[in-house]
Amino acid sequence: METAFISQVKGLLASAKSIVIITHHNPDGDAIGASLALWHYLKKCDHKPEIVVSSDFPDFYKWMKGADSIKIATKERALCEKLIAEADLIFCLDFNMPDRIESLTDSLIKAKAKIVLIDHHQAPTDFATLTHSQTNTSSTSELIFDFISGMGDESKVDVDIATAIYVGIITDTGSFSYNCDYPNTYAVTSKLFAQNINGEEIHHRVYNTFSESRLRLLGYCLSQKLTIVPELATAYISITKEEMKRFDFSNGDSEGIVNYGLTIKGVKLAALFSERTGHIKLSLRSYGNLNVGVIARKHFDGGGHKNASGANIYKSLDEAIAEFLKILPLYKEYLA
Ligand code: 5GP
Ligand code: MN
Repeated sequence: METAFISQVKGLLASAKSIVIITHHNPDGDAIGASLALWHYLKKCDHKPEIVVSSDFPDFYKWMKGADSIKIATKERALCEKLIAEADLIFCLDFNMPDRIESLTDSLIKAKAKIVLIDHHQAPTDFATLTHSQTNTSSTSELIFDFISGMGDESKVDVDIATAIYVGIITDTGSFSYNCDYPNTYAVTSKLFAQNINGEEIHHRVYNTFSESRLRLLGYCLSQKLTIVPELATAYISITKEEMKRFDFSNGDSEGIVNYGLTIKGVKLAALFSERTGHIKLSLRSYGNLNVGVIARKHFDGGGHKNASGANIYKSLDEAIAEFLKILPLYKEYLA
């Protein structure tokens, strides 16, 4: 991490009295992992940071130390808005456009605090005081390790910080199966294991604690809801609200389902459409050179990475799928 960025953040930390860490809506493992790692680190530096999120996150991340201190706007909106308004330093982690924090966007835009952004998505917008945007990394969690290291504080990385960073790295790389070709990821991971983190237990807690209904929802999606477009190397799944209700859907239950499309021989693009209140949540995954971050930004006002992206589509489920199928041929050179 650039020394100029580190020394400027040091300057801001020196005078900061109230620090808030914010991460994106529907936080995933990297969002929560990076936030908790930074939170533990700042506490060790005698700060009193607070983590604020716009929506709740899945139970399979709640076992992480400190997760019960995270303030969730859907449960404590007034407190979250007050913390943002009164902060003098805000860290924005794992997102790079203000509207990614949905109902807290206005609070962030109006905040008097200096803003430090640390993120790994494509196409950052320029809203922070200081920005470290790096796409050639596994995750924001890896960047938090680099940040702590840059601060000269690698010795402060303990088992709680290391565990949170490891969760971010494995969830953003599908356990080292994509976005995982950076030597630094393994150098950092090696240092995490030097803190005696328990890789087997972490994997179990993140991936093997689903409900029975979630597994049955996955089975139903794969057997009944998967559509293949062979001439365009595409597989997609759609889930209606009624189906989610039928399978007792809870937060995080759709996580990972989109990836199954890519396990079919020849498929290079996988999509998941899930019906939410007032919009369709689209998840895109690709294998190879097709940049789904560009597709999400260009056609659906979303964003993300080269091989994993998403968007909210303010249309019906059928209209969203029709729109997707209409734009697919534009990318046929990648989908042959
Ligand atoms: P997922 O499909 O797992 O929700 O998201 C995949 C990637 O796309 C993540 O890195 C996530 O941050 C990004 N992403 C998902 N939805 C949106 C969206 O609505 N807007 C933007 N800008 N990025 C999104
Ligand atoms: Mn991430």
